[in-house]
Amino acid sequence: MPEWEPVIGLEIHVQLKTHTKMFCGCEAGFGGEPNTRTCPVCLAFPGALPVPNETAVEWTIKLGHALNCRIAERAVFHRKNYFYPDNPKGYQISQYDEPLCIAGSFVVPGPEGDTKVGIVRAHLEEDAAKTIHVGGETGRIVGSAHSNVDFNRGGTPLVEIVTQPDLRSADDAKRFLQLLRQTIVELGISDAEMEKGTLRADANVSVREVGETGYRTRTELKNMNSFNHIARGIEAELRRQIETWESGGEVVQETLDYEVKSDTVTPRRRKEEADDYRYFPEPDLVPIEPEADVVDRLRAEVPELPGVRIRRFEEQYELSYYDAEVLNGSAALAALYEQVALDGIDAKAASNVLMNDFVATGVDPAAVNGAELAKLIEARATIPRETFTRALTESADPEFRAETYLGDTLIADTAELEPLVERILASNPGQVAAYKGGKEGLLGFFVGQVMKETQGKADPKVVNDLLRQKLA
Ligand SMILES: [Zn+2]
Repeated sequence: MPEWEPVIGLEIHVQLKTHTKMFCGCEAGFGGEPNTRTCPVCLAFPGALPVPNETAVEWTIKLGHALNCRIAERAVFHRKNYFYPDNPKGYQISQYDEPLCIAGSFVVPGPEGDTKVGIVRAHLEEDAAKTIHVGGETGRIVGSAHSNVDFNRGGTPLVEIVTQPDLRSADDAKRFLQLLRQTIVELGISDAEMEKGTLRADANVSVREVGETGYRTRTELKNMNSFNHIARGIEAELRRQIETWESGGEVVQETLDYEVKSDTVTPRRRKEEADDYRYFPEPDLVPIEPEADVVDRLRAEVPELPGVRIRRFEEQYELSYYDAEVLNGSAALAALYEQVALDGIDAKAASNVLMNDFVATGVDPAAVNGAELAKLIEARATIPRETFTRALTESADPEFRAETYLGDTLIADTAELEPLVERILASNPGQVAAYKGGKEGLLGFFVGQVMKETQGKADPKVVNDLLRQKLA
């Protein structure tokens, strides 16, 4: 049997969180009473004229910089013609052969080196309205009783990002999307939430034999609404294509839906070719010609991006890739880590506390005073575990001061602990005999008893030493 290599490219749609829509002054945003955020432009009344949203153009350029794209000196809006009830103009204003951002790349750091993914283009367009199929089990048109259209979403600015087919596994595709999402969120241009549909991704999937240089026929996978579903959908489609080729069949170009329940893909429709859309330049809009100083200003506004920050954390704080990745799960957590680490705390200890104990509390890292947290972490060996956890839980309080908790010190005085240790050993003769007979794991049992009696306030190191001494 030949060895197969997956070839995966992604098409990502990102809804920008501008206040208003792409070509009119209607409020943009998720939800709302259906059909309340509309006007003659986004409802396509005859004679209504589009006016481009400047913020949306600037944010797309900013994203282009983050994706290492070349920003076009001249970009053109085109009409993409097709009929659908959620598209009242009969065309979507999009970009075709002169998009705003071209030929970039996006680097995904990993434990075994970087994955560099080519970016073909990132262009600006308007979103369609939302069709809601009523009745039926799946929420799809098949089996539904009727359909409603909500035009609130119609005309919302949308950026489409198209990658090269550079991804070689479903996991790589998922990791790419997660890092891209975080990058977009940190740029402040979109909430990029898959469950709300403000981030949507389709995958172009094909396989080829290892060593083959050309590409075989690809299919397009749609309708996947979480990172896990995307990875599983790609896996299912890879399996199907490999089986098809190995049984002497031929993969045909088509669009597929991933069905989560059955973990299989089902055909949706034959893929349209670009010719079918009869693209032509939008006569109501002039080309976008961004001025050089605006492009430069937007480049300067791009913050340090999460992919870059992960590598810097590994180097600067000598952390493992895994630690650096977890700490960069959000910009706020990364910033808090840096405040704590720069305060002179051991970088690895600070990383362990933040990644495990702190994250487990669910406290918002942006609300925490890093200097006070650093004091707390530094003193963690001298205060009871319970107190430490409570302090972390309360660390977002503006009044939070580490010293409030530091008075609650551990009992480390041997004279105080010794009688207690002796009493516990005397009242558990069976366990003592078993320990002396070789069941050394019972030490933990004795430590636990001491902790229980002292409400967790005994210094575990002193207790361990005392117990070993007495049991010797
Ligand atoms: Zn409108």
